[in-house]
Amino acid sequence: MHFIDVILPIPLEKRFTYSITKAESEFLQVGMRVAVPFGKSKVYTAIVAGIHTTAPLVYEAKEIHQILDETPLVSLKQLELWAWISNYYLCSEGEVMRAALPNAFLLESETLVVKNTVKEFDAASLKDDEFLVYEALQKSSSIKINELEAVLNKRNVLPVVKGLIEKSLIHLEEEIYEKYKPKLVQYVKLHEQHLKEDQLQQLLETLSRAPKQREVVLSLFMMQSKSKLPFKVSDLSEQSQASNQIIKTLIDKEVLQSYYIQTDRINFEDDTTNSKHLNEEQSVALTQILNQFETQNVVLLHGVTSSGKTEVYVKLIENALEKGEQVLYLLPEIALTTQLVNRLQNYFGEQVAVFHSKYTIHERVEVYNNVLNSLDKAKIIIGARSSLFLPFSNLGLVIVDEEHEQSYKQYDPAPRYHARDTAIVLAHMYKAKTLLGSATPSIESYYNTQIGKYGLVELKKRYNNVQLPDIELVDIKVKHKRKLMNGHFSDRLIEEMELTLGEGLQVILFQNRRGYSPIVECNTCGHAPQCPNCDVSLTYHHYRSQLRCHYCGYTMAMLQKCMACYQPTLNTKGFGTEQIEQEVKSIFPKYKIARMDLDTTRGKYGYEKIITAFEQKETQILVGTQMLTKGLDFRNVKLVGIMNADNMLNFPDFRAHERSFQLFQQVAGRAGRTDVQGKVLIQTYNPLHNILQQVSEHHYLKMFNEQLQERTNFKYPPFYRLLKITFKHRDYNKVERSSEWFAKSLRQTFKQHILGPEFPPVSRIRNMYLKHVMIKIPQQQNLQKTKEVLLKINSSFQAISDFKGVRVIFNVDYY
Ligand code: ADP
Ligand code: ZN
Repeated sequence: MHFIDVILPIPLEKRFTYSITKAESEFLQVGMRVAVPFGKSKVYTAIVAGIHTTAPLVYEAKEIHQILDETPLVSLKQLELWAWISNYYLCSEGEVMRAALPNAFLLESETLVVKNTVKEFDAASLKDDEFLVYEALQKSSSIKINELEAVLNKRNVLPVVKGLIEKSLIHLEEEIYEKYKPKLVQYVKLHEQHLKEDQLQQLLETLSRAPKQREVVLSLFMMQSKSKLPFKVSDLSEQSQASNQIIKTLIDKEVLQSYYIQTDRINFEDDTTNSKHLNEEQSVALTQILNQFETQNVVLLHGVTSSGKTEVYVKLIENALEKGEQVLYLLPEIALTTQLVNRLQNYFGEQVAVFHSKYTIHERVEVYNNVLNSLDKAKIIIGARSSLFLPFSNLGLVIVDEEHEQSYKQYDPAPRYHARDTAIVLAHMYKAKTLLGSATPSIESYYNTQIGKYGLVELKKRYNNVQLPDIELVDIKVKHKRKLMNGHFSDRLIEEMELTLGEGLQVILFQNRRGYSPIVECNTCGHAPQCPNCDVSLTYHHYRSQLRCHYCGYTMAMLQKCMACYQPTLNTKGFGTEQIEQEVKSIFPKYKIARMDLDTTRGKYGYEKIITAFEQKETQILVGTQMLTKGLDFRNVKLVGIMNADNMLNFPDFRAHERSFQLFQQVAGRAGRTDVQGKVLIQTYNPLHNILQQVSEHHYLKMFNEQLQERTNFKYPPFYRLLKITFKHRDYNKVERSSEWFAKSLRQTFKQHILGPEFPPVSRIRNMYLKHVMIKIPQQQNLQKTKEVLLKINSSFQAISDFKGVRVIFNVDYY
C-alpha cells in the first residue's frame, strides 16, 4: 500500500493521509498538487508533503482524485519555511499554504470559473469534457467548480478546469484588481513589412508623390537606427516637422504601426542606465556591510532619511547578481511605489519582477512561475511580505527596507507572521545574507546590533550634505489662548506655508486620521452616534455627508438632529484629513490641494495619480495620513506640517512612543530632499514631551536608550516576548467566562507573566466581543515549551461545551 501526506488549504491541525496506487507513488514527488476529496462533498487542491507506506491509524485513507502537476510546484525549502511559520506562529500549515500560493493554484469546489471573451478558437482542439464546460459557460456567466460535477457527470473536474485555464478559455473569478501601473503611452514604429532595407526603398518610391509622408518615414528610419528606445508620436512629429494628422494617415495606411506601452516599461528593452557612483560615506558603508557579512548573517543599515540607502542596496544587488544569485527586496505594501520600482528597473531592466497584492492573480502566477523556473526575468523580486513565499532556488540576498514598519506583521488572518523576522529565517535556509534598512530602526533590531547579534552600519549625513530639516515645535495651547489659530492652523504654520508656496515650493500636511471628524456629539445632551456593530463612534465624512464606521464600513446619512434629544445641536469634535483639506482650501484659495488617505486612493489608480500630480507640481499642497511617509522621494517639498502630534503620542500601546518618533521622523524626512534645507512644524499641546524633543534634535539614540529603559522596567520586548490570545464571540458573557477560564489555567504555570483578560480599546467589532490575554515570555524561558503548555490548555478548552464557538486567536510576537 502507498500513501501520501498532504497539506490542505484549510486550518487543520495535522497533515492528512490519502492512499495512492503504486504507479502514482512512482510518479508523485513532494511539492506536487493533487486534487483530493475532503469531508462529505468537497474537493480541494492539496500539496504532497510526504510519500510513504504507513496507513493512518484512526481513519481509513481515501483515494486521491487526480494528480495536477507533472513537476513540483512547491520546493522542499518552501515546505520547510511553511513548517517553521506554522510552528512558530501557532497556525496550521494549511493557513500558511493559503497565504503562500496565488489563489489560481488552489482550485477547489467553491471557486467560480468565468468564460474568457476570445474571438475565435478551435473547438476541435478541446477534449470532450472541456467542450462541455465551455458550452455550459456560454449559458451562464459563471459556474462554481462543484456545479461542473453535474455538467460532466463525474467528481473529477479540476483537471478539466486546469486544461481550460491553460488554453486561456476560462479564468477564475476574482476581485478585479488594478494593474500596478497601467498608464499607457502611444508609440510608433515602422510597420514590420517595411523593416528590411529593400522594402524600405520600395516604400519610399511609392511615397514619392507625398513628400511630407516620405519625410516622416525617413525621419523615423533615422531615429530608429540611432536608438532602440521607442518613440512617441510627439517625438516623431517634432523630428519630422509633420503634423499628427500626417502621422495618423501613415498609420491608417499601415506604413507605420502604433502601439502602447506602460510608461514604466519603456526603458526596459536594452536601455538600462548604470547605477550611481557612490559618494565617500556610501562607499564606506558598502564596504562595511560586505565586511560584516563575512561574520554576520544580518546587518542593519541605519541611515538618516535621504542618505542614499537605496543606492547602497543597488550596489549590493549588483554584487549578488554577479554571483548569479537571486535577490529579494521586501517593502511594506504601501511603500511599494512606482517611484521605487522605476528606479530599480532603470538599473536592472527586465530582471526586476514585482510581486504585489494589487496584481491580478494571473500576474502573480506568472511571477511565481518565473521564479520557479529561475528565469532571468525574475532575478530580483521586489515585493510586499507575501513575496517571501516565492519558490526561490539560489537566493543570495534579502533586503528588508523600512524594517521598522509595523505593517510587516500580518494581523489578520493567520498566519500572523512578521515578514522581517521570517525573512531572516528564509535567508538562513539559503545561507543568504539579510540587510535591514531604516532611518528609524525598530527598538528590537537596534537592540540586536547592540548585543552583537546583528551587524550595524550607519549613514549619518544626507546625500549631498543637505541638512536634515529644521524641526520647530508649535505650542497650540498658547496659540489658542492668544487667538492665533485659524481653524487647526497656527499662525506659524500659515506663515511658513505662505513663504514656501511663494517660493514655488511644495507643502505636505500630515494628520493621522481620515474623514472630517472622528466624533459627532450633541451639545445639548452629549449623545454621540455609535456604530451599531462596533464599540466606536462614527466618523463624519463631510464630502459624502455621511457617518461611517472605520472598523466595519457601516454608513448612514449625516444626522440633522440628535438621535437622542432631537435638538439640532450636533457638533463635531476632533479632525481628520478631510477637514484639513477644507480649511486649506479656504486659507489658500490660490493653490491646488490633493488629499491622500484610504478614501482617496481606493479608486482606479488613485494612489499613483495623486503622487504623479504632486511630483509634476500640478498640486502644491498634499494633505494625508501616514501613507505619505513611506519612502516617497519628492524633490520639491520644503515644508512639512504635522497638524497634531498628541493623539499618536497618547495612544494606549507600549510602542506608541517608538512609533510616534518613527512616524514624525519619516514624515519630516519628506522635506528638503534636494538642496534647500527643509522645515518641519509640529503642532502640539505638549511641546516638552520627550519624544518630541528627541524628534526635533533628530536624536535616535536618546530615544532608543530611553525606550529601552522603559521596556526593561515594564517587561516588554526586546526583553520579553509577547504572545497575545484573543477571544471572540457574539455573546458577551461567553467571552468573559471563556477568557477568565483560559487566563486562570495559564496562571497556574506562568504566574505573574499572564496579563488580562482585558477588553481592548474597541471591544466589539462587527458584533463580536473581544477580550485579550497576554503572555509575557522572559528570554530564558523556553519558547517551544511555553507553546506546548499553551496548546495543551487550548485542547482542554476546546473540549468544554460551554465555550463552544468561541474563537481563540494566537498572535505570537504581537505587534
Ligand atoms: P534613502 O533611501 O536613504 O532615503 P535615497 O537612496 O532615496 O535615500 O537617496 C536620496 C536621493 O539622493 C535620491 O534622489 C538619490 O537619487 C540621490 N542619491 C543618493 N545617492 C546618490 C549618488 N551616489 N549619486 C547621485 N545621487 C544619489
Ligand atoms: Zn462598525
